[in-house]
Amino acid sequence: MDLKTLIRTIPDYPKAGVQFRDITSLIEHPEGFRESITQLAAPFRDKGITHVAGIEARGFIFGAGLAIELGVGFVPIRKAGKLPGETIGQNYALEYGVDTIEMHAGAVKEGDKVLLVDDLVATGGTAIAAISLIRRSGAVLEDAAFVIDLPDLGGADKIRAQNINTHFLIE
Ligand code: AMP
Repeated sequence: MDLKTLIRTIPDYPKAGVQFRDITSLIEHPEGFRESITQLAAPFRDKGITHVAGIEARGFIFGAGLAIELGVGFVPIRKAGKLPGETIGQNYALEYGVDTIEMHAGAVKEGDKVLLVDDLVATGGTAIAAISLIRRSGAVLEDAAFVIDLPDLGGADKIRAQNINTHFLIE
């Protein structure tokens, strides 16, 4: 199945000039959604992954499916102020200003092997903040899986420069 044909593009969302790659049309399609989880999981079946960490919000959708597929737990990485327990946070730069993502303290620890998941890499800024957060917890993070790469923005190269193996389904 050609997953790329199931991604809808919405021009000028959330602002003028952005081509928004919308995965809702993929996850509404039962075979497409299942196939995307199967393909995301393929390289990681025998790699000793102990947790899948997914980035709010679309990383939760693919990350939850992937965690079930791999038979491991799921760890949410959320926008600041959303997690109820004690958290660790990581700031990252936006085009204008900064944002913060958080993870529950102790959700992953030394000895764990985490797989990071999100729907899409643009500049790579969000994923790199998540990489720092997970590594600060003491867990090992060597792999990241995404549905879509926007290669013109160079984010995937920046992620690989952090000694992360990247797995993309669609460019
Ligand atoms: P970045 O930190 O620049 O790599 O941006 C990645 C995050 O922003 C991901 O969580 C994406 O869901 C979202 N994002 C950025 N650009 C787009 C786009 N063109 N279409 C859909 N989502 C996007």
